[in-house]
Amino acid sequence: MTTLTTENPSVAAEAARRRSIAVISHPDAGKSTLTEALALHARAIDEAGAVHGKGNRSGVVSDWLEMEQKRGISITSAALQFVYRDVVINLLDTPGHADFSEDTYRVLTAVDAAVMLLDSAKGLEPQTLKLFEVCRRRGVPVITFVNKWDRPGREVLDLCDELEERIGLRPTPVTWPVGEAGRFLGLLDRQDGHVTRYRRTPGGASLAEEETLDASRAADELDDDYTEAVEGAQLLDAVDVATFRSGETTPLLFGAALANIGVRQLLDAVVDLAPAPGARPTADGGDRPVEAPFSGFVFKMQAGMDPKHRDHVAYIRVCSGRFERGMNVTHEPSGRPFATKYALSVFGRERSTVEDAYPGDVVGLVNAGALAVGDTVHEPSGPPVRFPPMPAFEPEHFAVARSSDPGRSKQFRKGMSQLEQEGVVQVLVSDLRGDASPVLAAVGPLQFEVAAFRMEHEFSAPMVLETLSLSVARYVDPAHAAAVAAYPGAEVARRRDGATLALLRDVWHARAFERGHPDIALDPLTPNL
Ligand code: GDP
Repeated sequence: MTTLTTENPSVAAEAARRRSIAVISHPDAGKSTLTEALALHARAIDEAGAVHGKGNRSGVVSDWLEMEQKRGISITSAALQFVYRDVVINLLDTPGHADFSEDTYRVLTAVDAAVMLLDSAKGLEPQTLKLFEVCRRRGVPVITFVNKWDRPGREVLDLCDELEERIGLRPTPVTWPVGEAGRFLGLLDRQDGHVTRYRRTPGGASLAEEETLDASRAADELDDDYTEAVEGAQLLDAVDVATFRSGETTPLLFGAALANIGVRQLLDAVVDLAPAPGARPTADGGDRPVEAPFSGFVFKMQAGMDPKHRDHVAYIRVCSGRFERGMNVTHEPSGRPFATKYALSVFGRERSTVEDAYPGDVVGLVNAGALAVGDTVHEPSGPPVRFPPMPAFEPEHFAVARSSDPGRSKQFRKGMSQLEQEGVVQVLVSDLRGDASPVLAAVGPLQFEVAAFRMEHEFSAPMVLETLSLSVARYVDPAHAAAVAAYPGAEVARRRDGATLALLRDVWHARAFERGHPDIALDPLTPNL
């Protein structure tokens, strides 16, 4: 006899074989190189280089926006999907360099784990720290990969200490290098004591040849270097899944992405340790299990810049159920139906049509002008589902916007409101300037460029932007607005949700203000994401 249940075992099985991850790093640590190497190992592509469009290599990173092409960078968070050991890995791109923006942080709301990529010579760098902080606040567990071990760099234990002392993350080695950075002899497996030796391939364009030495052969052939590695690795605790997932420890791996060294072990760690998509908290305090009917949320919006193809693509992280192209979904909070005839898989330039998707996957919905970052879409049957709103991340760049044509103030206001709703920039109203000259706040200056471009080309309301010498926003009690306004260089501004913000020149000014006004608290913008 068959029993009808609402559970869907095939969806649960598909969810269980997925890992959705992002790489967090500082520019130049090797994210593009590692992405290529991961995909190469997983046989998503034939030769490293076909994934990302760096240099003169042609890639699949999206460049379909006019502005992207002009600037020669990618604004899109492309997601890359590949299969490794029968597990589907969704690698969501976290744009860095000039394209660092609020979207970079938002990607971290759509993944279940992150790979923190460090340059062996540099350790923790500013952008890595910012992204790590978001992971920590959101409870995203982090695997650490120390890259460029083929080059002279810092000492292993020094790097480990930095993790523990600066960010309170206890490293637990999966692999350990034999030989110091720059004199790399192989990778020790902390668990079984085997050593993998590599024969480099020229340019790293294909998989490095590997040879595995068991413990006794490794001890014979590598002598003191082996003993030292074993002793070093044993100074630290072994990997522990529970404390990794709770954010106390980080599985630690070493390698050289450029030479495809240590990349297979990283993939194994992702498959073995990173959590599969699980039940997702909803705004009403409940949980949406993966086998519930289809639901997902928008973590990124992208508007086509070409006036002839001005489509809005909403990037959805699937949270539950099976997404099928063509299905009708309900959009929350409007409650309106939304047709998904044009659903895309979003692997960069290849905007191929997606037929179905499962929890953890990313789907791009076209013609999604009515959707905004943080919105939920779900199967129409059953009660409405709403995931928590997307947090507003801490802006560090501020500029006043003015309509350059007084006759277009209506369009200017409409455009501003649309861009704010989509999450392109945060739009604040400063007490000092009034709502005709809103203050735009952004995580990266790219957001201003996108906003200016769209105001001109989409809303025919060109604007002039004047950068402000402000870099810090803090919550302040509205009762203390006057004290902030009186402080040199500071402004008070209101956000759409009613929050009152103190905008200050920099952290030193913020600290000096607090010292001078011990009764006034300036609270960080994102205490709990
Ligand atoms: P991204 O800015 O983080 O995407 O960094 P890229 O992947 O573009 O790499 C930055 C530079 O570091 C490039 O010149 C790479 O060739 C180099 N690089 C990346 N991985 C390694 C590595 O394992 N060893 C060495 N020696 N260089 C590397």
